[in-house]
Amino acid sequence: MAMSKHADSTESLRAPRRSSGSPPSEARRWPPVAESEATIRIVLAQPRGFCAGVVRAVDIVERALEKHGKPVYVRHEIVHNQHVVDALKKKGARFVEEVSEIPDGALTVFSAHGVSQSVVREAESRALPVIDATCPLVSKVHSQAKHYVAQGRALILIGHRGHPEVEGTMGQAGAEVRLVSSKEDVDRLDLARDAPVAYVTQTTLSVDDTREVIAALKGRFDDIAGPHTSDICYATQNRQSAVRELCKIADLILVVGSKNSSNSNRLREIGVEAGIPSYLIADGSELDPAWLMDKKTIGLTAGASAPEVLVLDVIETLRGIVGDVNVSRMNGIEEHVEFRLPPELRD
Ligand code: SF4
Repeated sequence: MAMSKHADSTESLRAPRRSSGSPPSEARRWPPVAESEATIRIVLAQPRGFCAGVVRAVDIVERALEKHGKPVYVRHEIVHNQHVVDALKKKGARFVEEVSEIPDGALTVFSAHGVSQSVVREAESRALPVIDATCPLVSKVHSQAKHYVAQGRALILIGHRGHPEVEGTMGQAGAEVRLVSSKEDVDRLDLARDAPVAYVTQTTLSVDDTREVIAALKGRFDDIAGPHTSDICYATQNRQSAVRELCKIADLILVVGSKNSSNSNRLREIGVEAGIPSYLIADGSELDPAWLMDKKTIGLTAGASAPEVLVLDVIETLRGIVGDVNVSRMNGIEEHVEFRLPPELRD
């Protein structure tokens, strides 16, 4: 993916955390086998890791700190990755869950997941200076939701309850939003067959994820509108398609990402659905050597909020465990998506 022109500012999120000379702990070494037998192939998914929305969100916080000094208050984790959050904390970002925790007059950033209108209003009522890091693809879903509501349609959101993006979208629509996650949820909707309805989807669900639910909605309602499939998040779809390709050649799938990252969890689930042992790990320290027993080809990917430095950390840890690894990259889509920074942070 083409990184934004300020991508260098995320360099600290890419540099290896350990020196390459760090000896692996003996306890973490694989059971003794001849070096030639220990060679493991690591195949990297293409694409993997940071999407354009995450690059933009991280850049926004870093540029805001450079331009306005610390602290900068960020409502919710800017993206769902502890390593990213910790790196920004060290630079002077302060993460809070509620606007009420932000001192008067403090520079405020809304996270990439988006926020509800009530959050926007609360910040406005306190005259907080706000920079919105909502991913443009999430903002587009907000616009679609408002558009369908303005048409007088009952709005249905396909997504997972409790996810901050879902809460933000539900609070942006300006009307009641019915949330569904499965076709069983569709069966339970309290709407007549001839009611005018529309659906929008959480961005971390791909076309493949939503196909069954959308089919159920179309079977249930006569007058239904929804976004074109080209409107879905390219990054979610591309990372999921890449893992499906990896599953054809790998006998173990490792997904680098945080436990609270929806898209990272989904990548692991795809591996499991394909019958491949699949694990979600934050970094190399969570790698269990027992997973490697009898494995020859490891498929390695990362969620959209996981920086490449953590992928390198996993490779280094694998090298420390088995002593010899062959690393290659799968053929796949080259992404060239770039989202502009908000006007107030551009040069
Ligand atoms: Fe935006 Fe898609 Fe990345 Fe979410 S996964 S931040 S919607 S580009």
